Amino acid sequence: EMYTIATLGSHSALQILKGAHDEGFKTLAIANRETERLYRSFAFVDEVITIDKYSDFMLLVPELEKRKIIIVPHGSFVAYLSLEDHKKMRIPYFGNKAVLDWEASRELQRDWLLRAGLKLPRQFKTGAEIDRPVIVKLYGAQGGKGYMFLRDAMDFEERASLLARQNYILQEYIIGVPLYIHYFYSSLTGKLEIMSMDRRYETNVDSLGRIPSQAQAGMDVDPSYVVVGNQPISLRESMLAEAYRMGEDVVRVSQEICGPKGLFGAFCIETIITPDTNFYIMEISARIVAGTNLFIDGSPYSYLNYSEPMSTGRRIAREIKNALLSNSLDTILD
Ligand code: ATP
Repeated sequence: EMYTIATLGSHSALQILKGAHDEGFKTLAIANRETERLYRSFAFVDEVITIDKYSDFMLLVPELEKRKIIIVPHGSFVAYLSLEDHKKMRIPYFGNKAVLDWEASRELQRDWLLRAGLKLPRQFKTGAEIDRPVIVKLYGAQGGKGYMFLRDAMDFEERASLLARQNYILQEYIIGVPLYIHYFYSSLTGKLEIMSMDRRYETNVDSLGRIPSQAQAGMDVDPSYVVVGNQPISLRESMLAEAYRMGEDVVRVSQEICGPKGLFGAFCIETIITPDTNFYIMEISARIVAGTNLFIDGSPYSYLNYSEPMSTGRRIAREIKNALLSNSLDTILD
């Protein structure tokens, strides 16, 4: 009997399930009342189970645990389930749950990336320490909402009341091009692939350049970082080797800190590239990211490795298939 690949109906579920179908798996979308009609409308979705709200997912777990199912997590899946729920759940899960702890804590994540030799924006502990423009990141902010740009320490003083009693970090503001690199690391072959890349389009920070700075003076606009969409981008080839090396280093260090399995499957390094072509790292996501949805039909980079459309979602299903064929499912499931 064939495995069913299942995920929550959101984020990159269509890509994941299309990929699973193309690799010969049965597919299952866990939807809610609003999304069930959408997921049912696609021929590659074999089954839809509807729950009231996505946070009810854990109620479904006993039923799913009895079936031959593999869960492929994505960003929303992780957002709806707590870390504890993740660990409690016994449904075969694509990925290494030990990585979640290193990803979820800003401190541990910083430690991981620094050990991998990546460049990170400086962090300041107090407003008085600020000696350059900073971005204030409120804890729990999502999709760039609730971020604030501050020019200097004086700016901080003036707005300190807005930040009172909030948890946040003060991070050096890097001026450059945001580039999100989508990787896939195969623990079956030990090979890293660059699947695709994107830049995000954010409002209103990406629009400010359309108004001359003189005209902005006195307008009282602040940059904001709410994500609206993603744009494909191809990286200058001379910078590609560095992008590849960063991915390898992150994987290597993950094997030292999260146990031998380390980080595998899809992941994304979120960077900002400065005029001296340095990559500064904002964050790492240890699974498929929504920017890969631009490339359901494959990307110029995935075409270099596969002469057929290979999305990240399909690449995940291919990995599961290869593991099945080589009797090594244990290597890639948790
Ligand atoms: P998501 O989880 O959806 O990726 P998030 O809430 O974690 O979003 P980040 O990805 O950390 O947010 O950042 C959102 C945006 O804020 C970035 O795309 C970038 O435009 C801006 N940003 C974040 N950190 C910096 C920085 N150090 N310097 C300049 N801009 C930054």
